[in-house]
Amino acid sequence: MEKTHFGFKEVAENDKARHVAGVFSSVAGKYDLMNDLMSLGLHRLWKAFTIEVSGVRAGDRVLDVAGGTADLSLAFARRVGERGEVWLTDINNAMLTRGRDRLLDHGFRMPAAQCDGEKLPFPSGHFDCVTCAFGLRNMTHKEQALAEMARVLKPGGRLLVLEFSKVWEPLTPAYDFYSFKVLPWLGKRVANDAESYQYLAESIRMHPDQETLKAMMERAGLEKVEYYNLTAGVVALHRGHKF
Ligand code: SAM
Repeated sequence: MEKTHFGFKEVAENDKARHVAGVFSSVAGKYDLMNDLMSLGLHRLWKAFTIEVSGVRAGDRVLDVAGGTADLSLAFARRVGERGEVWLTDINNAMLTRGRDRLLDHGFRMPAAQCDGEKLPFPSGHFDCVTCAFGLRNMTHKEQALAEMARVLKPGGRLLVLEFSKVWEPLTPAYDFYSFKVLPWLGKRVANDAESYQYLAESIRMHPDQETLKAMMERAGLEKVEYYNLTAGVVALHRGHKF
């Protein structure tokens, strides 16, 4: 049986999604609070930057893959207006439900679909913009997921992948201390779940670095792929175009 990584552990490939589902079902209730605490609010800036470089305008069609509690979907909903379309999607029902409820609380009735980023239930060439924020790291077949995101883009459309990446080398010792000591401690205190935050730290280390992800996006058929390092490479935003 094929093996893959789940953080630093090896698991059967067909079992990774179940492990990931366990993490997000467990953290869903405290997800937004933990994001603010762990990043000291920086995730809001990273997402605001993503919206800025998306080029999304009124009337556009946007797909938010692994959209979770809907931070990006909410910002896009405000941009696209009445004529536009924003789909919030996620594989996990607990996360998706929180996201959908949040959109409704803000007065947006938008479609939400529970689906796997590796098998998107949308026609080819449908969206002006596809985003995947902090989701790709958790997927089993990342190349397949990128190919799917590229497939559903219209010619002229953009794929934006916001993800943890390789931090600037001199910061590594401090970043490792923060990730492997502070994060699980915070997870235990706030969400009563140290393990999920240990997985977060480990999965970041296993994720492809900036250049590797750029090459993967190019192999998925995207062009003019570029990336922006944010907060010294703690996070990178990759953008590719479909022509
Ligand atoms: N995009 C949101 C954000 O930036 O706050 C949520 C990110 S959260 C860290 C990762 C999300 O990826 C979770 O909601 C999880 O359920 C989702 N996910 C994991 N594997 C997935 C898959 N194969 N397809 C779609 N979503 C997936």
